[in-house]
Amino acid sequence: MTVTTSRQHGVAVLGIFVADLAFRASSLPGVGQTIAGSGFAMGPGGKGSNQAVAAARAGAGVTFISKLGQDAFGNDALALWSREGITPRAPQVTAQPTGAAFIYVHEVTGDNAIIVVPGAAMLIDAADVDTAADAIRGARVFVTQLEQPAAAARRGLEIAREAGTLTVFNPAPALPFDDALYALCDYITPNEHEAAALSGMPVETIEDARRAGDFFLAKGVGCALITLGDKGALLHSASGSEHIPVFRAGAVKETTGAGDAFNGGFAAALAEGATAREAARFGAAVAAISVTRAGTAPSMPTRAEVDALLA
Ligand code: ATP
Repeated sequence: MTVTTSRQHGVAVLGIFVADLAFRASSLPGVGQTIAGSGFAMGPGGKGSNQAVAAARAGAGVTFISKLGQDAFGNDALALWSREGITPRAPQVTAQPTGAAFIYVHEVTGDNAIIVVPGAAMLIDAADVDTAADAIRGARVFVTQLEQPAAAARRGLEIAREAGTLTVFNPAPALPFDDALYALCDYITPNEHEAAALSGMPVETIEDARRAGDFFLAKGVGCALITLGDKGALLHSASGSEHIPVFRAGAVKETTGAGDAFNGGFAAALAEGATAREAARFGAAVAAISVTRAGTAPSMPTRAEVDALLA
């Protein structure tokens, strides 16, 4: 891959950070009940923040646009981004706390139940995105998702489009949004569930993904990149479609966050001037390494590890 980064920050990501609080127990407590759990772990989460970490470890200069509470979790987010070399554009506000996720994990089956509260990130509006417009204009690639309000995602995509910054829209979680967003996307990157929810058709096989890809092209996106878990991904544009197989980097430990690893890696490679196919293979390699490790952001590989897998 030829490195041609000419803009100061290769990738600008708009999204959210949440503190993931995972509790292990033999059951969920009923209303009014208190039970003893058998374990607790805390880690960084939020799709946007995870994608930013993946892109930074892959070698991109990353700016992260968000909003935090003025509290310990907000400080944790800033410390994480500082360690990862990510430039924050994420003011700490007093109106809401930093987002957090309560994750109940059954200690035997591993089944989970989750409550996510985006907190301060739900306050991000179009005006906030305007204040970070310079970071979006200065990037080669802009990435966003739907964990913060869709109006903010739309404003980011508009600014990027006007500036000639490549746009990657990861429509996750699967929530409805205005059809006008499609025409602002150079790339849309749903997983199979999001592709099915948006297109209204089942998406389980590569052939299904091709049909869903046609749906996204008809809506105005430049290229659909639909991820299908361990079945790989499909890159689909007017010039044809190509299956991107998974890489095998060892025994699979935890697949949560695979999509974030894929998106972060894809964006980092695009920012270096890779073709869509090269960037999708790079994203698949980042994801393949991440699934061999526990956690989401902590499981993201370094550039050297990705290059070794691709060699
Ligand atoms: P999540 O929501 O858990 O972050 P996702 O559903 O958005 O994930 P997936 O479609 O599951 O994302 O996976 C994204 C990409 O990660 C796949 O296209 C593939 O390249 C890679 N991947 C997923 N699972 C595996 C696996 N078991 N082994 C290797 N690569 C994998």
